[in-house]
Amino acid sequence: MSILSVQQVSKIYQSGSRKLTVLDNVNFSIEAGQTAAIVGPSGSGKTTLLGLCAGLDYATSGSVVLNGHALENLSEDQRAEIRNQHVGFIFQNFQLLPTLTALENVMVPLELKKRKDAKKKALELLEKVGLADRATHYPTQLSGGEQQRVSIARAFANEPKILFADEPTGNLDTETGDMIENLIFDLNKQLGTTLILVTHDPELAKKTNRIIRIKGGKIQEEQYV
Ligand code: ADP
Repeated sequence: MSILSVQQVSKIYQSGSRKLTVLDNVNFSIEAGQTAAIVGPSGSGKTTLLGLCAGLDYATSGSVVLNGHALENLSEDQRAEIRNQHVGFIFQNFQLLPTLTALENVMVPLELKKRKDAKKKALELLEKVGLADRATHYPTQLSGGEQQRVSIARAFANEPKILFADEPTGNLDTETGDMIENLIFDLNKQLGTTLILVTHDPELAKKTNRIIRIKGGKIQEEQYV
C-alpha cells in the first residue's frame, strides 16, 4: 500500500496580481519502507513539494494522501495531529528550539505523544546518535554536526512512519555530512521508516531506492536505483 500518494498536485503562489506556478500537475506515490530523493535545480519546487507531502502547507489543487488521510480535507489541527503521530522532519538548518537542551529537544515529540517514559526514551535516542554526553547542552553549545544529530534523534523519537529530510547535509562539511547520511540510513534501516529527502547531492540521492527529478515544477524523470 502507498504511504504517500501525490495526485495531480499544483501549487500557485500569488503575490499581488502576479501568479507563480511552482508545482504543475505532479503525480507520484511512495510505498511504505521505500527511500526516495527529490532532486532538481534550485527554485524547481523541491522544498514546496516536500512541505505539501508533509502537510505543512496546502496544495492549490490536487490531492495528497498521507498514510490514508487526504490532507486537503483536514483542518490545520487535524494535520498537526497527523504530523505528531506519524511524521518526522530533518531540516537543513536543524531547527532545534534554542531555549531547550539537547535532551529536551528530543523529548518534544515524545511529550506531544504523552509518553510517560519520554526522558528515558530521549536519552536512549541521544545515545544512538552518539551524544549522550551532550544531553544538557543547548543548541548554541553544539557544533553543526552535533545539532543535526540531535535533530535526527528528535525526528526518529515518535517512531514516524515517514521521515522527510530537506537538504539534511546542506550546511555541513563533507566529512560531517557523510557521517550524518550514514546515521540517517542506518536508523532508517533499523526502524524500517519510509524516507523522502530533498537534495542537491547526486551521491546522496543514489543511496535511496528512487530518484524523482523535478524541473520547473514538473516531474522530468523517475529513476529506480
Ligand atoms: P527548491 O526547493 O527547488 O529550491 P522552492 O520550493 O523552495 O524550490 O521554491 C520554488 C519557487 O517558489 C521559487 O521561485 C520560490 O521563490 C517560490 N516560493 C517558495 N515559497 C514561496 C512563498 N511562500 N511565496 C511565494 N513564492 C514562494
